[in-house]
Amino acid sequence: MLTDQDRIFTNLYGMFDRSLSGARARGHWDGTAQVIAKGRDWIIDEMKKSGLRGRGGAGFPTGLKWSFMPKESDGRPHYLVINADESEPGTCKDREIMRHDPHTLIEGALIASFAMGAHAAYIYIRGEYIREREALQAAIDEAYDAGLLGANAAKSGWDFDLYLHHGAGAYICGEETALLESLEGKKGMPRMKPPFPAGSGLYGCPTTVNNVESIAVVPTILRRGGDWFASFGRPNNAGTKLFAVSGHVNRPCVVEESMSIGLRELLDRHCGGVRGGWDNLKAVIPGGSSVPLLPASICEDAIMDFDWLREQRSGLGTAAVIVMDQSTDVIKAIWRLASFYKHESCGQCTPCREGTGWMMRVMDRLVKGEAEIEEIDMLFDVTRQVEGHTICALGDAAAWPIQGLIRHFRDEIEDRIRAQKAGRTGVLAAE
Ligand code: SF4
Repeated sequence: MLTDQDRIFTNLYGMFDRSLSGARARGHWDGTAQVIAKGRDWIIDEMKKSGLRGRGGAGFPTGLKWSFMPKESDGRPHYLVINADESEPGTCKDREIMRHDPHTLIEGALIASFAMGAHAAYIYIRGEYIREREALQAAIDEAYDAGLLGANAAKSGWDFDLYLHHGAGAYICGEETALLESLEGKKGMPRMKPPFPAGSGLYGCPTTVNNVESIAVVPTILRRGGDWFASFGRPNNAGTKLFAVSGHVNRPCVVEESMSIGLRELLDRHCGGVRGGWDNLKAVIPGGSSVPLLPASICEDAIMDFDWLREQRSGLGTAAVIVMDQSTDVIKAIWRLASFYKHESCGQCTPCREGTGWMMRVMDRLVKGEAEIEEIDMLFDVTRQVEGHTICALGDAAAWPIQGLIRHFRDEIEDRIRAQKAGRTGVLAAE
């Protein structure tokens, strides 16, 4: 179990002073200039050593991503863009950083930008996050007033400006290239890759897009050392991690824990356990709405990290754990996600635009049991045709939850179809 001394986010619950003086008292902005004085190569090496993998869902190694930025500028400016869009259903971890511990993010933005040769960074915050934007902007203003941002930021010799941009509330703007389009003032539609943002990103300039949590942990990692961070979790799954647990637990919460914690331990220790006891568990979505669910039979031994969950054909994603007890109509729960993805598709590519609607309409009928058994395979087949055949990952995100449902709860789907045909209404979904 992670001890308080090893927690990076010391004001996650807003119990303490979130202003600059409060943040300083908790150890933030301590020796920032000395960290920067160690140079770009040292910072990037230390980040690689820490084993930090991106906290936005994909889990790409952060230090490696930074190293893709050109070493020298060819005349174009470099940019860091921080993805604070956090629109994945179930995910609510970055908002706690922004509203309660914003200086972790601001200090991280300065150090990361220096490491990538960027004199400016943008934070793209989700449209619905009004209070979070206010808290973050107040913290940015405070940092400017204290000389921590702007010319010679934090007396580091590096000029650095940080801008907060408020999005308009579209899920797809959490996709990094759609986010860049939106930031440029265009419609938030994903770009084809390549070119990747490190070569041509914001305004056609070298850009790195990182998640809020990935940047906010940077200063502490560099102060305490990459080896310290790497000492948590299993190999290749290093560090501490914010888990956002919602659904049928006694006390839903966001908590910082060691990576690779057991799912059961996470729920029992921090959330008061599953509502009605562990045996009342039906399924868990371990990483936000786009990853396939795990049935209760797998949950007992589940390890919350990238590699273990991938081996189970699911994923850690954003570590947003959605718990469903036996009272859940799991078919309807996945239908709800299918309808979400249909609504949020930007419509740019055919498999996603048509496929999400098609999948949702079949799910519509499966919820009511008004389908033929053969259609389950047909639906699975369509998810496979959408998956991997689209410009961005929204297509995959729409396909995977349905695949998980069919893989683990096929009996329940078939049972409902048979019940509908036989007029056994007890098995049917609640309206
Ligand atoms: Fe748009 Fe969907 Fe294609 Fe992504 S996969 S670009 S959301 S149509």
